[in-house]
Amino acid sequence: MSPAFSLCVYCGSRPGTDAAFGETARQVGQWIGAHGGQLVYGGGRNGLMGIVADATLAAGGRVVGVIPKALVEKEWAHTGCTELHIVDTMHERKRIMAEHADAFLSLPGGIGTLEEFFEVWTWRQLGYHAKPVGLLNLNGYYDHLLAFLHTSVQNGFMSDWQMELVHVGAQPLALLEQLVQVAGMAPEGVRLDQI
Ligand code: AMP
Repeated sequence: MSPAFSLCVYCGSRPGTDAAFGETARQVGQWIGAHGGQLVYGGGRNGLMGIVADATLAAGGRVVGVIPKALVEKEWAHTGCTELHIVDTMHERKRIMAEHADAFLSLPGGIGTLEEFFEVWTWRQLGYHAKPVGLLNLNGYYDHLLAFLHTSVQNGFMSDWQMELVHVGAQPLALLEQLVQVAGMAPEGVRLDQI
């Protein structure tokens, strides 16, 4: 049976210092699995990436992991994925992840997460895809990034409409519901009070 929706999640290959990061990654995976969804992610077991994948699988969801062969050991490739794609390059990884997704969600993370977030956002503003892009500003983690982006708007390098392409939220479950509904992939009965 095909999944109700397919969500690409970008997040840290480390767990971060706030226990809320790991707990939220677990909730996100649980939500995807509980709603018959599919997680698309970078295919590792480390950090938040591993937590979101394990939680999706534990809740009965599908997990598509895509990892470059050079990172199989470094990021500890997750052999429990429903589908694990081992690819030649980082560019191939990101292309396959994007193709398999109906929507994108970035959780807290580091340089890799930021790069992936900016890539799908820039692709969106160029019209390469029309899929919703979300940023989870958990416990203010992305406050300074968002402030800087507004500085860029004020200085005339970005426009409000570009900012409006990103769904920013602090509540993971509300943001998940929004992304899946905007993507037009909401399965019957996705409601916050069922989580
Ligand atoms: P990080 O947020 O740095 O912990 O990385 C999260 C994920 O992003 C990891 O699976 C990285 O391999 C991946 N990633 C994607 N693009 C890049 C990039 N250009 N540089 C570093 N990591 C990247």
